[in-house]
Amino acid sequence: MREWIVAGNWKMHNNVAESIALAKAIREGLTAIKNGEVVIAPTFTALFSVGEIIKGSRISLAAQDMHYEDKGAFTGEISPAMLKDVGCIYVIIGHSERRKYFHEQDNDVNLKVKKALMIGLKPIVCVGETDEERVKGVTQSVVGRQLKEGLSGVEKIDNVVIAYEPVWAIGTGKVATPEQAQEVHFFIRGILKNLYGGSTADDIRVLYGGSVTKDNIGDLIAMKDIDGALVGGASLKVDSFLGIIKVISSKQ
Ligand code: PEP
Repeated sequence: MREWIVAGNWKMHNNVAESIALAKAIREGLTAIKNGEVVIAPTFTALFSVGEIIKGSRISLAAQDMHYEDKGAFTGEISPAMLKDVGCIYVIIGHSERRKYFHEQDNDVNLKVKKALMIGLKPIVCVGETDEERVKGVTQSVVGRQLKEGLSGVEKIDNVVIAYEPVWAIGTGKVATPEQAQEVHFFIRGILKNLYGGSTADDIRVLYGGSVTKDNIGDLIAMKDIDGALVGGASLKVDSFLGIIKVISSKQ
């Protein structure tokens, strides 16, 4: 039985004080939730302070990205060990905004995934097609390539979480239908089965991301291969984030 995850990606929002306030409110609001896993990914500058706030709670800290080198002359970058040092458990890798604005390639994603696992961070690996790719009918080849290249050389996948995030659904209010999402999630699980075998693949959490709200998550989470959500906009307000968590938790 796969345990659900709801991960909030705060992107480049919230200063330290705002991040602390949001983390406190989420922590307080979660006292009634007894199952599942909640992850929050503040900006780098707020990681340490938020980590202190959520210590001892059921919330795990995540970073939104990392470099794949241990240290060195990489101005502006953050190493995996630095993330561990401030209490990160997870790290989001290959988010479509990293791919689009910072030109990250599948090979970069692969180097980061391998390094995260090596150092003991759990990568949340993002894959997903653009609008144009969906219209062209190449969704599966794009997602398949991102997944296979992103995981190339990764022998043990237990600590990996996959997030299927159609790019056309991110921040647009245009959520995938449950059937569209399930079709790709089923495809992803099939690839994982080919790579890692059935019983391993059956344990890997595959999250959906893209304009998730408390009003649409119920139908998405009802799908067999959807194990939770990676949430952007709706993770920035305590009520909407907790609302999503409550819907998922009540259905499991
Ligand atoms: C995201 O950035 O990963 C995301 C899913 O954003 P949103 O929920 O705002 O679409």
